[in-house]
Amino acid sequence: QGKAGGRDALSFYQRGLSDRLRARTQLEEELRQAIARREFIVYYQPRMGVQPGEVVGAEALVRWRHPQRGLVLPGEFIPLCEEVGLMRDLGRQVFEQAARQQAAWIAEGHRLKLSVNLSPREFEDPALLPDLERTLAATGCPPQAIELEITESMLIDEGDQPLRMLQGMRALGLSIALDDFGMGYSNLAYLQRFPFSTLKIDRSLVQAPPHERPLAEAIVALCRAMKLRPVAEGVENACQHQWLLAQGVRDFQGYLFARPMPVLEFEAMLNGCRSLTPEPASPAP
Ligand code: C2E
Ligand code: MG
Ligand code: MG
Ligand code: MG
Repeated sequence: QGKAGGRDALSFYQRGLSDRLRARTQLEEELRQAIARREFIVYYQPRMGVQPGEVVGAEALVRWRHPQRGLVLPGEFIPLCEEVGLMRDLGRQVFEQAARQQAAWIAEGHRLKLSVNLSPREFEDPALLPDLERTLAATGCPPQAIELEITESMLIDEGDQPLRMLQGMRALGLSIALDDFGMGYSNLAYLQRFPFSTLKIDRSLVQAPPHERPLAEAIVALCRAMKLRPVAEGVENACQHQWLLAQGVRDFQGYLFARPMPVLEFEAMLNGCRSLTPEPASPAP
């Protein structure tokens, strides 16, 4: 009896495992097709300045427009793309869409900093720099208008590969942001070893309860001392916004202002923001 029960339990577990493997294999196959069919689109989340409604930049965030499941978020497919070697192709598609879009905005007279995320696999790829350079040239996007976002985990390397990669990006004219700062084992020495322009303060610090605020405040002060531009991520309420403004933060992202959105919606917001600049006073009737 007990033995039979044990065997059933085991076969149940095995079935569970093989189901998961099958689901994974199926997702991998779907992802390959989705990349070939270009089902990925870039959403844009505005980076806000200090003036009400002022958009100073945007972060490109990929979404999968799945034919059955609708819009799928990156957390659901990026890890598998990384694992099975699909991230290079996906990342290149994202960068190309973003660069093309940025070139169009520049042609329309917008001056935005557009940031694009890189994954660990992309960051290790020796073909990355030549590919980025080629895409910038092909789209007509000036490198100065693009910022690449990387995370600290990509910098943990015995050798000088990460530094060389970042220097290569700078040499192309791209700027570099350190993303999610304060989330993991934030290594302060990295801030002077690597050529960052921007430091993105992780939303866990931005959303910290008031008694935990001194840490974020110290990071903002550190940015000032090191001439890094702090960007607050994940600003969800006016209270967080006011506090960070008082600390001297000038750039903000978060649901308080806007969620990541499709390009047309983002452009509507950009144009709305333009008309927010005060009209010259018209003579009273
Ligand atoms: P991230 O680069 O730190 O991007 C910020 C994430 O926080 C985005 O999630 C954004 O939608 C979300 N967010 C923005 N404001 C708020 C807020 O006020 N509250 C909260 N709770 N969340 C907010 P998303 O788009 O799901 O992306 C998740 C992560 O996936 C990104 O984190 C980034 O690491 C990665 N990712 C997204 N797009 C790409 C891409 O094109 N390439 C690569 N390599 N990674 C990407
Ligand atoms: Mg990011
Ligand atoms: Mg982030
Ligand atoms: Mg992240």
